[in-house]
Amino acid sequence: MNVAVCVGCGETKEGAFTPCDECGLDPARAGTDRMLQARSLLLSERFHSERELLALGRKIHLGEAVPYDTAKLAELVEELKTRKLPIVSSSGPGCSILTWGILGMMGTLAAGLGWLWWSARG
Ligand SMILES: [Zn+2]
Repeated sequence: MNVAVCVGCGETKEGAFTPCDECGLDPARAGTDRMLQARSLLLSERFHSERELLALGRKIHLGEAVPYDTAKLAELVEELKTRKLPIVSSSGPGCSILTWGILGMMGTLAAGLGWLWWSARG
């Protein structure tokens, strides 16, 4: 269980980069907005206990300023720049379509070769 808090509305959610059910904020889709992703990551179980996260979420919900650790944020932005995001490295639907496409092509090729072999034999 990886509890995180939405930086937009303070709703508790599963995973720092998952879209928020409450306000629809999707840090993964923000693309190059590393600061938003870093803030999302900072408000996850990686840095806070679930209890702390709930308290932070309540603050955001009430519109209070959340004391982000700016040094940590800068560090995370760097990390996000240099390293692949966890969400990007996991295989998306596009990746599986490509895999299946290649598998399908190989299957067709194998069938074609089999037919050639069969017809050459006779
Ligand atoms: Zn939200």
